[in-house]
Amino acid sequence: MSDLDAPVTTLKGVGEALAGKLARLHIVSVADLLFHLPLRYQDRTRITPIATLRAGHEAVVEGEVMAAEVVRGRRRSLLVRLRDGSGILSLRFFHFSPAQQQQFRPGVRLRGFGEARAGATGLELYHPEYRLLSDDAPPVEDHLTPIYPATEGLHQARLRALIEQALTCLDTAPEALPDGIPAELRRRFDLPALHHCLQVLHRPPPDTDPAPLAAGQHPCVRRLALEELLAHQLSLREVRRRIQVDGAPALPSGRSLQARFLTQLPFSLTAAQRRVLDEIAADLAREVPMLRLVQGDVGSGKTVVAAMAALSAIAGDCQAAMMAPTELLAEQHYRAFRAWFEPLGIEVAWLSGKLKGKPRLDTKAAILDGRARMVVGTHALFQGDVHFQRLGLAIIDEQHRFGVHQRLALREKGEAGGLTPHQLVMTATPIPRTLAMSAYADLDVSVIDELPPGRTPVKTVVVPDERRPEVVARIRHACAEGRQAYWVCTLIEESEALQCQAAEATWDELVETLPELAIGLVHGRLKAAEKAEVMAAFKAGELDLLIATTVIEVGVDVPNASLMIIENPERLGLSQLHQLRGRVGRGATESFCVLLYHPPLSAHSRQRLAVLRETTDGFRIAEKDLEIRGPGEMLGTRQTGLAQMKVADLERDADLLPRITPLAEALLASHPEASRPLIRRWLGEEAGRYGQV
Ligand code: ADP
Ligand code: MG
Repeated sequence: MSDLDAPVTTLKGVGEALAGKLARLHIVSVADLLFHLPLRYQDRTRITPIATLRAGHEAVVEGEVMAAEVVRGRRRSLLVRLRDGSGILSLRFFHFSPAQQQQFRPGVRLRGFGEARAGATGLELYHPEYRLLSDDAPPVEDHLTPIYPATEGLHQARLRALIEQALTCLDTAPEALPDGIPAELRRRFDLPALHHCLQVLHRPPPDTDPAPLAAGQHPCVRRLALEELLAHQLSLREVRRRIQVDGAPALPSGRSLQARFLTQLPFSLTAAQRRVLDEIAADLAREVPMLRLVQGDVGSGKTVVAAMAALSAIAGDCQAAMMAPTELLAEQHYRAFRAWFEPLGIEVAWLSGKLKGKPRLDTKAAILDGRARMVVGTHALFQGDVHFQRLGLAIIDEQHRFGVHQRLALREKGEAGGLTPHQLVMTATPIPRTLAMSAYADLDVSVIDELPPGRTPVKTVVVPDERRPEVVARIRHACAEGRQAYWVCTLIEESEALQCQAAEATWDELVETLPELAIGLVHGRLKAAEKAEVMAAFKAGELDLLIATTVIEVGVDVPNASLMIIENPERLGLSQLHQLRGRVGRGATESFCVLLYHPPLSAHSRQRLAVLRETTDGFRIAEKDLEIRGPGEMLGTRQTGLAQMKVADLERDADLLPRITPLAEALLASHPEASRPLIRRWLGEEAGRYGQV
């Protein structure tokens, strides 16, 4: 009876049909009922004098009926006047029966509950719940009334009764639900006990202020939010631990190969690049798989860092693979790596989903027999049919589309050689530090916090589209001077088809107005080869102007391009705009970014775009973006886990984040056995299994 892990059907009155409805609320076990927390509360624990009622407040009132009459306003209604000695209030009913109307005889006493609103007769309760009182008035509720998230066919009263049953199980057998956070840590981190929190949250004592409870500021809600964040962090750490129980090839050297590579570069590394490379080298030298994230603003030179790391692997007799999120980027990386590595006698292979037939078979053969030392491609690289001879390092560019599960899956790729590859993840989307610690608890983080010298910051202007002719003139002028430009067409919630159409329409228009220019068009519907051809032509300077959709967002590198127009910038996130803008300002000439908006621009959008005008610092922009859009959107799909939590809310509970890492570390140090049950409780069985090697 008191088995909290048992399915809800073990409770009285719960059959398959009801269990089905509960499942819609993610309630499967009896314990799940206990973690189904109220959305808000009603205070029915005391009777409020009418005189102290305020509009917008829910309250219980008690008084004597003075009169009841049917009134005709916009809608016919029954108006009952009630007095309690402190004041007078109206109860208003839009649906009522003659019998009901008869009940409200003058002198009758009643108790009602509802939300007070300012109505035609002063304060009114619309459709209150009510009961007529005889001499022995029943007591008021002895705790606040919880209002739960409900679902069709399963209403409050039913949910409350079920949760009451679960609470009774808990009362009679408290040991059935151990506190996930050991007592010693609760004391150290000043956290209330789990059972206390559940009791308070489901049955708050009458003197509890419901507002902080509902707003998540009460210590009992915060304890649960903290526990959930902790569970997420622990699960990421489990992923890390699980990957790192396997061995990796120690790659201690590579210095001489790296030195040969560096001498052929037309520049020397920045101090930040060298520092990050040292951190990577230290990881690679160990027989434990590296799990490292490199954050660096757009243009900070992450690709060269990736190449240097790849050379360590290659010098250590392993293969290296680099995965990019789009065909376009993969293609570009492939060209870069070929230009860099072939002079060093290193064979570079290319693999994407679009590579078919014999070329695909040949490439796979070269990857399997180890001729291809460096492999560049899209996620196709890490699919089941691709086998490496001896993969030592997997580099993932632009991590946000790559998740924990893929990270785990990568382990298998090294298996032929009995080894798990080192993992290096690169991102240009900086996220604020505390959020990063939670979101990337499975990764060590390095930051390239310096741009190569000689870059002039991009100047950004915000211009309404009435001034399009001026903008076009500016392109003409820039291209006449031998520079190149991008024109980026954006659309909301990309129907990719519409985005492509918009780009095509712009292309038609600009080809007509700028006949002297060579204009290219690139969008998601072109074949990979077509895209690559257009990009290559742009890179070679054969095209003056490139019309594009946001496919060019990440990584595209053409230093001679110094002007970018972004249409409808108000529709994109700040970080995304910053990424786009990072396509210019890569050479020594002064670069411009024109944000061409469609008026009217809301005050909010104006303020957002102003951030881009004022700063080119990706971290500041990311912080603003976080403020404006919230962490869920910002982290993107990779962290869907963090973005859809049960109790915690990254925005509301941001101040809890700094406490999570120390708590996780303390727990793993002194009570490692507590980790898995917590993960299972909050993330489910599957995540709980991460740790079972
Ligand atoms: P991102 O970090 O955005 O991926 P890239 O790796 O594409 O940046 O580098 C941007 C540009 O800067 C490239 O043209 C690259 O060759 C160049 N670059 C990288 N490192 C340096 C450096 N230390 N000095 C000068 N230019 C550099
Ligand atoms: Mg890049």
